[in-house]
Amino acid sequence: MGEFELIRRYFQRQGSAHPAVALGIGDDCALLQPASGAQLAISSDMLVEGRHFFADVDPATLGHKALAVNLSDLAACGARPLAFTLALALPQADQAWLAAFARGLFTLADAHDCQLIGGDTTRGPLNICITVFGEVPVVNGRSLALLRSGAQVGDELWISGTLGDARLALEALQDRRQLPPAVLQAARARLEQPTPRVALGLALRGIASAALDVSDGLLGDLGHILQASGCGACIDTSLAAPLLAAQGATLGEEERLALVLAGGDDYELLFTAPAAQGEAVLAAAREAGTPVTRIGRIETGPGLRLVDAQGRPVSGRYASFDHFA
Ligand code: ADP
Ligand code: MG
Repeated sequence: MGEFELIRRYFQRQGSAHPAVALGIGDDCALLQPASGAQLAISSDMLVEGRHFFADVDPATLGHKALAVNLSDLAACGARPLAFTLALALPQADQAWLAAFARGLFTLADAHDCQLIGGDTTRGPLNICITVFGEVPVVNGRSLALLRSGAQVGDELWISGTLGDARLALEALQDRRQLPPAVLQAARARLEQPTPRVALGLALRGIASAALDVSDGLLGDLGHILQASGCGACIDTSLAAPLLAAQGATLGEEERLALVLAGGDDYELLFTAPAAQGEAVLAAAREAGTPVTRIGRIETGPGLRLVDAQGRPVSGRYASFDHFA
């Protein structure tokens, strides 16, 4: 099977095209036609074997995750997915692998009406790079994109879904901890098949003041919002602590906090909204079918403060994260 046969067989699909795709796979460029006056939101993410996934990972879940982490970036900007490109380096053209990879990829793509419009295919160490294109409306000259820079003092801090589960699974798969089979299965699904919060991102347009997707851990990623917005924040760790979904794992409080606050690979949305928008945030979350939790507040800062339910400072290594501010 040659390169072009591989593309034709696994990645070039017949059937209805997305209305924004004027030209898909097959020419030197694809042509995208965003809605009149709208902005294109563009993001790339690369997955490298050994760094982002294990060599023996199920190819269907890999196809899912490669697109999911990109859709998560669109979600964080409040962008509606349109299309994506796929640059693929493969050690060999393994047909069973390619079929499963394409199945995982297109199942998620179809769920978000996001069309594969091109890419590149080459022989080499397994490497997957996807670029997604999304659309954000501009209303009265103002973009509705959710940015990291919009947080204001007094805004409340929210997180979607749960945190820490992907990290829990990673540690178990690396034999750094033992988990009961059912807990490992639940946590592993979060690691290998994250759910991009696209519907929530769209529902938060005009409500959230700032947003990003948590990929490197809550505290580190919150640091990006604080830096971009020029403010500080306070997190109530008693609110953040129950965010771990894999509750069946027997964890000490410190351990739980470490996973929740600094876990990584969560792909949840961390966002801020004016306190007066609290009801609107909850309504948006209901509309999107995604749970959200209020975990803190934006302050003048600088830096990040962690407190317990009584407002007492939480000591330990997390308290020193203010160098992110
Ligand atoms: P060029 O040499 O002009 O860059 P290629 O020969 O690499 O084009 O690719 C031929 C067509 O197939 C192009 O439209 C390209 O976008 C598409 N393509 C190549 N690899 C992939 C892939 N992995 N997934 C989707 N489309 C692909
Ligand atoms: Mg090419």
